[in-house]
Amino acid sequence: MSPDKEQVKARMMADAESVIDQMLSEGSEKEQLDLSDIEHLARAAGQRIMERLTCALVDTEAGEEEGSRCPECGQKARYKGRRRRSLVTDTGEVRLERGYYYCPTCRKGFFPPRPTMESE
Ligand SMILES: [Zn+2]
Repeated sequence: MSPDKEQVKARMMADAESVIDQMLSEGSEKEQLDLSDIEHLARAAGQRIMERLTCALVDTEAGEEEGSRCPECGQKARYKGRRRRSLVTDTGEVRLERGYYYCPTCRKGFFPPRPTMESE
């Protein structure tokens, strides 16, 4: 694995670990967990882990902060900072921050096409 990937992996492991710690401490607040409590805890933790993993991957993919090109006209677009957006994945909606660009030619703002699943 490349050093970059090692770093991403370390971050993902740390993120997952903090979610698991949180899940275990929430679980230990109750004396006895029934099946629906367990399901609820596992689902909530799974959701949080998924969000974090998605964010980590998107950050990796969005490495080119400068020099992104407009998907419509191919001109160089201006980086406008990070914006919140929600991404719909197979397992649900994730909220994350992504680099946002503005094309002066088309007068349109956009998020880089990759790895976004729907277009603006
Ligand atoms: Zn354009």
